[in-house]
Amino acid sequence: MSKLRFRVVETAFSKKPVHVESPKERPSEYFAKYVFNKEKMFRYLPGKVYDKLIDSIENGAPLDRNVANEVAEGMKKWAVEMGATHYTHWFHPLTEGTAEKHDAFVEHDGKGGMMEEFTGKLLVQQEPDASSFPNGGIRNTFEARGYSAWDPSSPAFIVDDTLCIPTIFIAYTGESLDYKAPLLKALRAVDKAATDVCRYFDPNVKKVNAYLGWEQEYFLVDEGLYAARPDLLLTGRTLMGHEASKNQQLEDHYFGAIPARVAAFMKDLEIEALKLGIPVKTRHNEVAPNQFELAPIYEECNLAVDHNMLIMALMRKIARNHGFRVLLHEKPFKGVNGSGKHNNWSLGTDTGVMLMAPGKTAEENLRFITFIVNTLMAVYRHNGLLKASISSATNAHRLGANEAPPAIISSFLGKQLSQVLKHIEESDDLGNLSGKQGMKLDIPQIPELLIDNTDRNRTSPFAFTGNRFEFRAVGSEANCASAMIALNAALAEQLADFKRDVDALMAQGEEKMSAILSVIRRDIKTCKPIHFDGNGYSEEWKAEAAKRGLDCETSVPVIFDNYLTEDSIAMFEKTGVMTRKELEARNEVKWEMYTKKIQIEARVLGDLAMNHIIPIATQYQTGLIDNVYKLRSLFPAEKAAALSAKNMELIEEIAKRTAFIKEHVDEMVAGRKVANKLDDERAKAVAYHDCIVPMMEEIRYHIDKLELIVDNQMWTLPKYRELLFIR
Ligand code: ADP
Ligand code: MG
Repeated sequence: MSKLRFRVVETAFSKKPVHVESPKERPSEYFAKYVFNKEKMFRYLPGKVYDKLIDSIENGAPLDRNVANEVAEGMKKWAVEMGATHYTHWFHPLTEGTAEKHDAFVEHDGKGGMMEEFTGKLLVQQEPDASSFPNGGIRNTFEARGYSAWDPSSPAFIVDDTLCIPTIFIAYTGESLDYKAPLLKALRAVDKAATDVCRYFDPNVKKVNAYLGWEQEYFLVDEGLYAARPDLLLTGRTLMGHEASKNQQLEDHYFGAIPARVAAFMKDLEIEALKLGIPVKTRHNEVAPNQFELAPIYEECNLAVDHNMLIMALMRKIARNHGFRVLLHEKPFKGVNGSGKHNNWSLGTDTGVMLMAPGKTAEENLRFITFIVNTLMAVYRHNGLLKASISSATNAHRLGANEAPPAIISSFLGKQLSQVLKHIEESDDLGNLSGKQGMKLDIPQIPELLIDNTDRNRTSPFAFTGNRFEFRAVGSEANCASAMIALNAALAEQLADFKRDVDALMAQGEEKMSAILSVIRRDIKTCKPIHFDGNGYSEEWKAEAAKRGLDCETSVPVIFDNYLTEDSIAMFEKTGVMTRKELEARNEVKWEMYTKKIQIEARVLGDLAMNHIIPIATQYQTGLIDNVYKLRSLFPAEKAAALSAKNMELIEEIAKRTAFIKEHVDEMVAGRKVANKLDDERAKAVAYHDCIVPMMEEIRYHIDKLELIVDNQMWTLPKYRELLFIR
């Protein structure tokens, strides 16, 4: 046993960084080498086809079959030249991760040979055998088919020998079975609603894009050590392990020098990411030991989401080439910081205006305030839903812990913006607003300094950071689409309501700018409860938030109910993003996934407790008992008793703790049996949350105590000090 452990540690220590050759070209030359982007479309498609495809990408114009055929032909030509032999529809099912089924390009040529073939039909639509993807009961047997359909707005790319075509995944009856379909609908909804509002200020605006810049946090663990931790292997996190004597107290890791082996991994990852068109830019150490972050330059939201899914897959692959495993779990280690994925989000027009950034003139600033206040309103009205959009069995360990956003959604605005809103709210004098000439908007000067805002409140889950909002509660493992669907759809609804109210005032004869200001003034008052600049980690905030009527629920299965409130359903249906039926089905999937994750963890913990921990502790205890007996035969009774007193204590402690562990593992199995009998997915998930999760914590507590007293030589599982410090 001990031999295995030390062999593992030795391989880790002896690993040399892999040398990563820099490509001969400059990054700007190999950037997007494997992407069928506009430049390649232009080269490989006939002029007319190119124009039609661009119109479809930029304006959502439908593509007919003939055009699709020609696009497929050009795409295939490029892919084959790049060495691709296969193609796949690449989609995001409701599990975390992506799905793909590879088909070769080859077809019979009718003359007994084979030829490379790829038609528009194969590009546009496929029918993956979908019955094994979660669907929440939407696909019962008679409608058991689903299909994937091409998303021209996200470019195809090549991984290894396969051309990957981003697609949506829907049931034959039309319901979405993935993340991308509702995301595209939410983006279209916010585009329409925001464009309408922008036209109050500039009638030339035709389109509003949502932008997303994610910051991916992750841990790296040596592959040898990882292999010796069945819990990491099977659940992505450590289910046991006592804190190392040193972890992040000295704060010596954050922004510190990057270890050579890690740097080699990062370099390799960045080169491959750039070749796939992912504009990676920032890398640094994070707060916890062995924790790092990677961030690209922000992109259009749909593309950014695809790129994040792609980079997570790429990280897993490249880490293995460097003898690492990457941990994307939100909380792989107890007692050190978890990993999140800040979603930096903003809106911008096709005329080049960033709507979340202050402008120079009073009118520009009124537009800025309009979008800020509408965002706050949307977040206020749907704060429970936004929390649901980032909640999962794994992120639950991170939220509300003393390092990550609390399980309450609120928004930080900073001193300057808070003052501006206060000023608008309090000034009632609209007299000087009417008349076109010499119109004076009562909008205070917003210093440009706001843009390089250093006023950072790290405890806020939804913070304004100068020219964007930063949704910090998103989990490191999550598909960003979930948060982006909820946020953009909620804003689409709010902007439409805003426009309705402004138009109503204008219909009564109120001047446009003054109508906008009146509605804003009212909304600033309404959404006040969501605005909180204080310490989000504090206990006082929890009490205060409850008083303000914000959603303070902490049980993940219950938080999911937020998707099915009448307000949420109405919002999703009004914006055309999801129907009641889809929402209901998706919640079934969410509850089922929650249950399965906890179920697997509970099983692994039970197995480890029974097969590793109790046998080792008992073996060590037997040695102690042997020692006590020998002391007794060596020394007179009184002296022997004194000499063996400490060992007697250890023997007793081990007996008590192992008995507790055994009893509770049995109880946990019984608890699972009861929960598994429940038919209702929600009730089952609640039972797992309420009964099984606390038992796992209790069992862990005693295991971690045993780790402290049992002979280190005997302990087979690599400890935190090894997992976190060997690199
Ligand atoms: P920090 O760690 O200080 O929050 P980073 O520079 O690491 O900031 O990352 C911020 C992310 O926000 C990057 O992906 C960046 O491209 C993105 N970002 C910057 N401005 C905007 C914006 N207006 N809209 C969306 N994302 C943005
Ligand atoms: Mg950030």
